[in-house]
Amino acid sequence: MNQGEREAKIAQKPTVIPLSQILGQEKAVDFLKQVIAREKIPHAYLFVGVPGIGKTTAAIALAQILNCENPDNGEGCGRCRSCRQIKSGNFPELVFIEAEGRYIKIEQIRDLDHVLGFKPLVGKYRVSVIRQAETMTEEAANAFLKTLEEPPPGNMLVLTVTDPRDLLPTIVSRCQKVAFRPIPAHLIKKWLVAEKRLSEGDATAVARICNGSLGRAKEIAEGEFLRKRKEYIKGIIDVVQDPPLDSIEKVIQLVGRESKKGYEALDLLAIWKSWYRDLMVIKTTGGDSFLINKDFSGELKKVSKNFTIEMLINSLFLIDQAERDLTGSRNLDLMLENIVLGLKSLSLERGEISSSIRTP
Ligand SMILES: [Zn+2]
Repeated sequence: MNQGEREAKIAQKPTVIPLSQILGQEKAVDFLKQVIAREKIPHAYLFVGVPGIGKTTAAIALAQILNCENPDNGEGCGRCRSCRQIKSGNFPELVFIEAEGRYIKIEQIRDLDHVLGFKPLVGKYRVSVIRQAETMTEEAANAFLKTLEEPPPGNMLVLTVTDPRDLLPTIVSRCQKVAFRPIPAHLIKKWLVAEKRLSEGDATAVARICNGSLGRAKEIAEGEFLRKRKEYIKGIIDVVQDPPLDSIEKVIQLVGRESKKGYEALDLLAIWKSWYRDLMVIKTTGGDSFLINKDFSGELKKVSKNFTIEMLINSLFLIDQAERDLTGSRNLDLMLENIVLGLKSLSLERGEISSSIRTP
């Protein structure tokens, strides 16, 4: 699964809300409002940040403001024709380009060029959102560079990207960059309790696990994640204790069916990360008041004896690396195998390895 698929999964239904209601992005929102107020609007933006923090939502809100017939204090009115069409997803001048399969292909950029050639039929601005622009193939990126050089008047391009280093520097330099930050956990927690009716305990766990991504938090709250948490935690306890081959087999089974493997693996890594973070908390504070998996505090205390702080730091580093690898196109089973072996080597209890050492 690549970043584009992940992003598409996280934000399947684009949210239509006013700019100022976007959670935790005051700085980006203020910046956008200032630019609009100055009426010197750049023709291309680059919205930077991890998936699920409001980049696409901001692009839609921007399209709304630019096309609203009665903009009110820097927001769309929500009542005029353009506002209503945007709300219902029928505004013809709001165009989305995203990966078809793994990549944004050159044909998609050619189609976009074709569309940009026409004057907007409705409203003042056509806003074209190129989501996870890093999924453009090399060919597509080169073709897009020409589009970006001189888009016909009345067009605004908004590119979203997780890390701008994954784009051609010539694309980055032609866009006005806007940074979106991970959303603070306390805001996400509050939102989950109010909007998703989660208990305080579940909301705390989800808000700490989702890495500042509201999209991810929603997905966790709506999916099987909370139920799977227990299963995957048992999995990581076993991984450290079982012989290497058994653990690899077990983890691959745990992640399950081929079609959903990528998403499952993401959940698995997120839960394991929360587990190692909790072990760090126990190791460094001795207490359990900051635990994500508070319901496992007994097991955590027991298991923590098998680790040094350095081992825990390195384990967290390994999981981070695996999460990054997962967004590329690498072999998933191989990634799982590596993470299992890596984590096993970072424990005082090393299954077969340690028992064979103990054998005289
Ligand atoms: Zn309006």
